[in-house]
Amino acid sequence: MAKDSNGTLCSKCGERPRAESHKWCKECKAEAQQGYDSDRERMIEARGFNAGAMAFKASLIASMLGSKGFHPSGMVMLGEIANFVDRMPLPKYQPT
Ligand SMILES: [Zn+2]
Repeated sequence: MAKDSNGTLCSKCGERPRAESHKWCKECKAEAQQGYDSDRERMIEARGFNAGAMAFKASLIASMLGSKGFHPSGMVMLGEIANFVDRMPLPKYQPT
C-alpha cells in the first residue's frame, strides 16, 4: 500500500488523498457506501421473499387442512400432502 511522506493517502486504494478526518478517500468511501446500500437492499428483498414464501406455504396448508369437502375419504391423504408441502424447502432466492 502506497503512502506519502505525510501519511495522508487513502488507506484503501493508497492512491488518492484521504477525505477530511477519514482514512479513505471520497471515491473509496462512495464505493463502500454503494456496496453497503446494494447489500442491504438485497437482504431486505430476500427477507420479503422468504416471508412471502412462508406465508404461501402456511396458506396452502391451512386451505388443504380446512377443506374437508375437498375429498370425501381423503383426510389421511390430505394430511400426507400437507406434510409433504410443509417439508418442502423454500424456493431459493434468485436476485433479479
Ligand atoms: Zn481510496
